[in-house]
Amino acid sequence: MALYVIGHKNPDTDSVASAIAFADLLNKWKKGSEAVPAAQGKLAPETEFVLKKFGCKAPEIVEDAAGKKIALVDHSDLAQAPANLDKAEILYVIDHHKLGDVTTPNPLEMWVMPVGCTCTVLKAMYDFAGVKISKKIAGIMLCAILSDTVMFKSVTCTKADKQACKDLAKIAGVKKMMDLGMEMFTVKSAVTGASMKDLVFRDYKDFNMSGKKVGIGQLEVIDLSLLDKVKDGLFEEITKVKSEGRHSVFLLLTDIMKEGSEMLIVSDDPKVVEKAFGVKATGRSVWLDKVMSRKKQVVPNFEKAFA
Ligand code: MG
Ligand code: MG
Ligand code: MG
Repeated sequence: MALYVIGHKNPDTDSVASAIAFADLLNKWKKGSEAVPAAQGKLAPETEFVLKKFGCKAPEIVEDAAGKKIALVDHSDLAQAPANLDKAEILYVIDHHKLGDVTTPNPLEMWVMPVGCTCTVLKAMYDFAGVKISKKIAGIMLCAILSDTVMFKSVTCTKADKQACKDLAKIAGVKKMMDLGMEMFTVKSAVTGASMKDLVFRDYKDFNMSGKKVGIGQLEVIDLSLLDKVKDGLFEEITKVKSEGRHSVFLLLTDIMKEGSEMLIVSDDPKVVEKAFGVKATGRSVWLDKVMSRKKQVVPNFEKAFA
């Protein structure tokens, strides 16, 4: 029976690259594995660019886990997992986020490390298993790490991420990894042609914060001015998303060169923003200097503020 390796909802490049890499590793490492990479829904333009660049096939779309064998990558939160996960058998969790609320009736194998990217965990796993990484897969893993760590600028970036990139670039034959990173972030920054809904949900996660449903999305661009024309539309869209039963929706517009984020705010209680970040939110957005990581600099602050 196939084992589906699957990343979180609104898949990002790490979610997809780590599904492809872990399926590959399992099939080479553990005899009798029938691991199949999967993604929950449409791929982001950045991810499509990365797969094309290194000649990797897009994963199968899987949104329902009922009756399936599952390996979760890049998440362990039910809110980000496929539907009917309670009717699936979870055999693995490979991740780099805070531990989520997924539980299992049976023992499972977990590799969870506080590093900048799931592909960095997978690099350690390939090394542990003594399995060689192919050129193609090394390329997409490298891109995933450059993306998740925002080319090493994010506070989530560790020595292990940088070392993994060095090793993977060698295998993939990438001479200038920062040029590759900029090429990727330029693709990521393009907003023309995308609907407001597409943009809000491109990298969006729902959280349960002390019983309140809170959505936090993020767009990472090489220059915030690229978003000037869509800001009104984005605000309208998150207002709509909030009205669908959420307490708050925040959208981080991250300028990766200025290294900070403008956060659009729609909330039943905007005071949580002041509680979380110490800045008064009077209008529809605030500038958060040096804040680039949702995982490390935004979610924990809000969790405390909502508690
Ligand atoms: Mg991710
Ligand atoms: Mg990740
Ligand atoms: Mg990210």
